[in-house]
Amino acid sequence: MPLQPVNPIALNPMVLSFEEARHVVEQHAALVQTGEIESVDLICAAGRVLSEPIPADRDIPPFPRSTRDGYAVRAGDLSQVPALLDVIGEIKAGERVESIPLRIGNGQAVSIMTGAPVPVGADAVVMVEFTSQQGNRVEIAKSVSPGENVVPRGAEAREGGTLIDRGQHLNDAAIALAASAGCSSLRVYKRPKVAVLTTGDEIVDVDAHPGPTQIRNSNSYSLAVQIQQAGGKPALLPIAPDEPERLRRLIEEGLKSELLVLTGGVSMGRYDLVEQVLGEMQAEFFFTGAKIQPGRPVVFGRCGTGTEQTKRYFFGLPGNPVSTMVTFELFVRPMLEALAGMLPRKLWFVHARLQSEIRVKPGLKRFLPAIVSGQFENSQVELVPWQGSGDVAATARANCYIVVPEDRGQIPAGEFVPILVR
Ligand code: AMP
Ligand code: MG
Repeated sequence: MPLQPVNPIALNPMVLSFEEARHVVEQHAALVQTGEIESVDLICAAGRVLSEPIPADRDIPPFPRSTRDGYAVRAGDLSQVPALLDVIGEIKAGERVESIPLRIGNGQAVSIMTGAPVPVGADAVVMVEFTSQQGNRVEIAKSVSPGENVVPRGAEAREGGTLIDRGQHLNDAAIALAASAGCSSLRVYKRPKVAVLTTGDEIVDVDAHPGPTQIRNSNSYSLAVQIQQAGGKPALLPIAPDEPERLRRLIEEGLKSELLVLTGGVSMGRYDLVEQVLGEMQAEFFFTGAKIQPGRPVVFGRCGTGTEQTKRYFFGLPGNPVSTMVTFELFVRPMLEALAGMLPRKLWFVHARLQSEIRVKPGLKRFLPAIVSGQFENSQVELVPWQGSGDVAATARANCYIVVPEDRGQIPAGEFVPILVR
């Protein structure tokens, strides 16, 4: 089939600002249905997305908990210090209920350990450091306020209340909380399958011996890693040549997954066929470019022959390796997280002090590979010298991207700049 001389989409481009493009993706992400559910062992649930809320099976803490080693007292008895109190017993963590003193009265104290239940009648704990016990009497040198060093029963969570919401990404603290609620396994969403389709006549696979003008496929591998990190299951398709028939067949194959990510073939070149072929397949396009660098020609749309339910979202990412990585983080990730069942979260940047001046041509929002270094409160960030958006070697040395707003041509050293940590 002869090549069409002009890409029809190129005649009617939809190039959005970065914020608009991100917003469009977030709006579509809010509409997607989440998939099947599976049960996994508690530790294996780390990094997964919870599919049903976890309720507290009892109050947390289940008793008023002492947060210090010391003496459980009535704060009112210590309005004048030093004070002498009668020690009527000792309570250690995990004490059998029947051996806990029933209640303490005026002028009395109980020796208590961190994590032990505070007895009835006591309303505070004095740290052992401010006390000295002689026989059954303790001298206390410091007064306390009511409630000091005691976490009341149920103060952290109430029995029956939700501990972890559906859609929450399970990190170390969430796994700890699930363990404290007695869950040895958790119900999580299955990882959505994401098809990866690399395009380009010059691209050969990792095992091939490349000819002098051929390039090894690296994008499928960076994408596979990013897909896994964002909660998906990558499925690498064979490399598509810049030839419409074969490209179309591989796109059809990719649309069987829950999401299709293409790389390469979305620029203005005569052999950039991705939009043309998708256009012929009656795809809807939501944008065909974003005012960013790297990654300007990024494409987002939806395609499928059948019903609304069988339509699939796709992203066409520019083939330059750094463009592929950056546009995945900025646009594909929120969609993939939604398909993986995650509650939506906004993209936020942290700030670090710029080490050396930046000069760029204004007009595009830039995400430039950089190294954040320093320690403690003194984080500083510097651009990595690079050869442009094809330079994976420079990007592999970077640990973040500096975000340069589109209206800034110059940023002086010393200014705090936003960074996207990778
Ligand atoms: P394209 O977006 O197809 O115009 O490609 C832009 C640049 O990225 C070209 O230099 C390609 O050779 C390179 N490129 C495209 N796809 C890949 C890939 N899968 N792995 C490594 N480099 C690629
Ligand atoms: Mg290409």
